Amino acid sequence: MPTQWYNIVADMSSRPQPMLNPQTRQPLTEADLTPLFSEQAVRQEFSTERFIDIPDEVRDLYRIWRPTPLVRASGLEKALDTPARIYFKNESISPVGSHKLNSAIPQAYYCKQQGIQHMTTETGAGQWGSALSIACKHFGLDLTVFMVNSSYEQKPYRKSVMRTYGADVIPSPSPVTQVGKELRERFPNTPGSLGMAISEAVELARLQPDTRYGIGSTMNHVCLHQTIIGEEARKQMEIAGDYPDIVIGCFGGGSNFSGIAFPFMRDNLCGNRHTRFIAAEPEACPKLTQGKFEYDYGDTEGLTPLIPMYTLGHDFEPAAIHAGGLRYHGAGAVVSQLMKDHLMEAVDIAQLDSFKAGILFSQVEGIIPAPESTHAICAAIKEAQQAKIEGKDKVILFCLSGHGLIDMASYDRYFAGELNK
Ligand SMILES: *Cc1c(COP(=O)(O)O)cnc(C)c1O
Repeated sequence: MPTQWYNIVADMSSRPQPMLNPQTRQPLTEADLTPLFSEQAVRQEFSTERFIDIPDEVRDLYRIWRPTPLVRASGLEKALDTPARIYFKNESISPVGSHKLNSAIPQAYYCKQQGIQHMTTETGAGQWGSALSIACKHFGLDLTVFMVNSSYEQKPYRKSVMRTYGADVIPSPSPVTQVGKELRERFPNTPGSLGMAISEAVELARLQPDTRYGIGSTMNHVCLHQTIIGEEARKQMEIAGDYPDIVIGCFGGGSNFSGIAFPFMRDNLCGNRHTRFIAAEPEACPKLTQGKFEYDYGDTEGLTPLIPMYTLGHDFEPAAIHAGGLRYHGAGAVVSQLMKDHLMEAVDIAQLDSFKAGILFSQVEGIIPAPESTHAICAAIKEAQQAKIEGKDKVILFCLSGHGLIDMASYDRYFAGELNK
């Protein structure tokens, strides 16, 4: 298991523009963020150091399920009759079923180390909330999770998972925060959104003493923690005697994509590799292909810093697709800069195509993927089909970000013909 995370910012010739303080519009300083995040997370957010040591306490917990397997998808290769060699990195085997635990553990650890007692966060479908719940429990912190109301009602099991791990789960928008009260007044029938839930979690973290906010994606320190995925995959590909021509991750805010991609992108930036990197986003939330690159807020209410990113607008309300983890209006600053500089690509995947790909994958590989992960699978299938047309033996690597065993209601709706596009 690798001992360091990789910070791609160190190797970028054009680094991301600074985040801005929303009041002063001046570049954000570490002091602006320390009321919100642990000091270590903030330091990492601004770091330009190339490799950052993973603390022993974090590695001890990673060892519960890491290194995760790198799997040759021979069943899928056979089904597609493709000359491509397809590999996937199986992040679905983590105790919470997704890659999110890779960052939840260090975020909780750094809070604990600093003497913080409480954390707050938001969650959409519940994957991030579940991950931070168990991470906080490991370090004896308590956690309040604002869960998007529509998911709270429609996806009862992840709420149960979070409660089992000991978190306090509140449907958002809630009467617990000022911003929640205002949102409920302005939009009495709102199903809630990730942006609204972030506003609530941030408010609570700001107002309560000894409390910090945990974030599931987009920020540099989260992408940094996720690079454990790609650092392991590099070693494993070497053991397999292969190197990827194409690396693919599904894309919500960019953390699992960054995790699998950045350690290989290092060879493009610093060496002479020409690997392609593809972010697979849903057609219903196409920030990378259709969004604008501009300063925007991370939440609905404009409480977060202004972030230089590809965005559909902070008030964009994506359709209620089943890949809840991909329904976010923006992309992280680092990934956005890489996209702007043409160091990576993005594709949009239609919901029905993603489910079709997920079902084929389930039947030939035996693992039922999370609706989010099916976007990466679909993009990998398209590349493998293209390799067949071109008669090229391409090597494709994708990240299986999570399993879908708590999302079976979504598969049922697909089988019932109730999903569109
Ligand atoms: C949250 C989530 C995603 C999307 O988030 P990123 O930060 O873009 O990785 C993808 N897959 C799964 C299984 C998730 O839980």
